Amino acid sequence: MDLALSEEQEAVRRLAEDFVAREVTPHATAWDRAEEVDRGIVKKLGAVGFLGLTIPEEYGGSGGDHLAYCLVTEELGRGDSSVRGIVSVSLGLVAKTIASWGREEQKREWLPRLASGEALGCFGLTEPGTGSDAGNLATRAVRDGGTGDYVINGTKMFITNGTWADVVLLFARTGDAPGHKGVSAFLVPTDTPGLARRPVHGKLGLRGQATAELVLEDVRVPAGAMLGPEGKGFTVAMSALAKGRMSVAAGCVGIAQTALDAAVRYAGEREQFGKPIASYQLVQELISDIAVDVDAARLLTWRVADLIDRGLDFATAASKAKLYASEAAVRAANNALQVFGGYGYIDEYPVGKLVRDARVMTLYEGTSQIQKLIIGRALTGVSAF
Ligand SMILES: Cc1cc2nc3c(=O)[nH]c(=O)nc-3n(C[C@H](O)[C@H](O)[C@H](O)COP(=O)(O)OP(=O)(O)OC[C@H]3O[C@@H](n4cnc5c(N)ncnc54)[C@H](O)[C@@H]3O)c2cc1C
Repeated sequence: MDLALSEEQEAVRRLAEDFVAREVTPHATAWDRAEEVDRGIVKKLGAVGFLGLTIPEEYGGSGGDHLAYCLVTEELGRGDSSVRGIVSVSLGLVAKTIASWGREEQKREWLPRLASGEALGCFGLTEPGTGSDAGNLATRAVRDGGTGDYVINGTKMFITNGTWADVVLLFARTGDAPGHKGVSAFLVPTDTPGLARRPVHGKLGLRGQATAELVLEDVRVPAGAMLGPEGKGFTVAMSALAKGRMSVAAGCVGIAQTALDAAVRYAGEREQFGKPIASYQLVQELISDIAVDVDAARLLTWRVADLIDRGLDFATAASKAKLYASEAAVRAANNALQVFGGYGYIDEYPVGKLVRDARVMTLYEGTSQIQKLIIGRALTGVSAF
């Protein structure tokens, strides 16, 4: 893998950097305090091409490669993880999954709208009773013998973009087979009667992001709403999450890079004992620990993009990148806060938000423990699940 970016990739990175400097960074603190990102950001993300970055051009996307996707996700993560998550979910988990698994009419119906930002997607896997053990989900989709429709009942928890989304990629049990074997995937428009959305408030971080509980009571969808074959829903979900982990990892690199930039800047400006704190070796240790974490996390993440773009097996590499980058983002943000001293604890400065936003990264799209089990299974051939 050539670590030097091509001209095209560098142009995409610069486009994202400029977009974030103009449209995201100036508002991030206010959105965090208001607990809501300005919804207008969705149309802007669509217009600049980020919501369709890796979607083929024939469906309204830009047909970009996965390294370009990493570069954009990292820049968005540098600016505001709440905005980065909008793209990671709508493009990374929903649109890309429709592109991989959808029938032609499903691609034509959803991809151009998702790529332009006219529609937003959310991913409904987690339930109140099943998080890490997602294959045991309880939501049911029962075939109506008369019409052929499916009637869905159940509850989904912690759904990113949940209150804003126009379509949910929903996972529900369609058969009696135990565990993940009886699960199928559906594309459910969120205005379907019987689907209620309740905002989740009080999050530690990602406060600007619309997180929701989805309650489905007799939600009726046509048989054509099924995505992929019946009973293969868990495979659909896991294929989405494997690539999704690369995008979370790239977002974590963004958090760690912002932590590094802020710590270096502040250490040069802040004086104690008559000298900039940057001159003290223990402060330099904090900064150098962040810098190594940034580089290591970025290299692991770019390797995943390279493997995907070359059509090679990437799933274990994606788990390694997500595990390392998410733990690194937490460490980096925490180290940066230490450099800022008491000022880091106040939200006039950027690092407190980084600590709060980083913390969820080791929890969602598979906790750190689950990533270790996936890596362990790949190495030993023995499954702990
Ligand atoms: C802000 C936010 C946004 C989210 N967005 C989405 C979304 O868009 N769509 C969606 O479907 N979900 C989403 N989630 C849900 C997220 O993926 C789950 O929270 C996550 O999978 C963990 O599940 P859980 O919270 O039920 O924890 P649990 O599974 O109950 O885990 C609790 C603890 O037990 C550990 N544990 C569990 N099983 C094992 C095991 N076998 N071995 C060792 N340790 C284990 C875990 O690592 C963890 O430390 C989101 C969550 C949050 C907080």
